[in-house]
Amino acid sequence: MKAAWDWHMPRKTEEDERAVVAFAHACGFDTLILSNPTEGLVKGGRDLGVRVVAVVSPNATGPFSEQHPECLQVVLPVEEAIAAGVSDCAPPGYQQTSYRWFSIVQPNRLLCYEHPASREALKARVRAALAVADGVAFDGFGFQNHYACFCDLCRGIRERMMVETGEMEEGEAIRRMSEESLVDVSHFLYLCAKDAKPDALVTNHIWPPFNPNPYYGNRLRLDYGTQTISWFYRPAWSIERVAFEAAEMKRLEDPSANTFVPFIGAYGDPYQVRSADRLAQELEVAGRYGHVVLCTLEAPRKYPEIFDVVKAALAKIA
Ligand SMILES: [Zn+2]
Repeated sequence: MKAAWDWHMPRKTEEDERAVVAFAHACGFDTLILSNPTEGLVKGGRDLGVRVVAVVSPNATGPFSEQHPECLQVVLPVEEAIAAGVSDCAPPGYQQTSYRWFSIVQPNRLLCYEHPASREALKARVRAALAVADGVAFDGFGFQNHYACFCDLCRGIRERMMVETGEMEEGEAIRRMSEESLVDVSHFLYLCAKDAKPDALVTNHIWPPFNPNPYYGNRLRLDYGTQTISWFYRPAWSIERVAFEAAEMKRLEDPSANTFVPFIGAYGDPYQVRSADRLAQELEVAGRYGHVVLCTLEAPRKYPEIFDVVKAALAKIA
């Protein structure tokens, strides 16, 4: 898979929609991942031989939150206070200037994956996406606090685990149960997708990171499991670290669960953009594993020299 994951290109008109897929194709991508693709965009992709994959997220919508407030993730009071403190007191751009790549507590509410009503809502999102797109990409499947949900249902499951095993510590129960929750919901949605459309492509991006085990992605049942070898943000990892992360994810790959795909996050704004030479090196690392996702199309769109290295690198990946 050679995929572009985009949310930067303009998409106000049907002409815009077709321009996104045409640009992805011009770069040499065979797959385009984005939110809410239109039928015109998907048709444009078919004409060019580009699969169009729709993003599916576990973000809580207003109507769902009103109907099922008990099905949303719950964080600890201390974490609510941290989130409120950041929201009330942090200066603009605080996350970047303090070199925190990810919020301690994500501000957007997420569904708790253990509730049947959450799973039904997520299943409906998968089916709606596949009514238009060639595949689905799960994004945002994690925890608001990066490690656990503290709703009554999740607390109860952990208490039973601790009682049944006799001597499991709470930290261990949290780590195990949270990871199982992420693995289970991914498997459930994979089956929903294949049931709705047997030839659907099912992929993801591991985000938000799962603190107890950043490398759990090898357990997710998917066609392609994409994991970040280079993040969007400064300071960029050394190229040696990028190569190490990719090699480690490949070493941990379980082909019976999914095929590892290196994910490269690269923005085009002046504060974050990396040089064409540097991106060429990252793409070469990804190419060693035969697949790549580049997110987003902003950098190759804005900088001709980056477009050139993307195109050259993709041409070398079979
Ligand atoms: Zn929960």
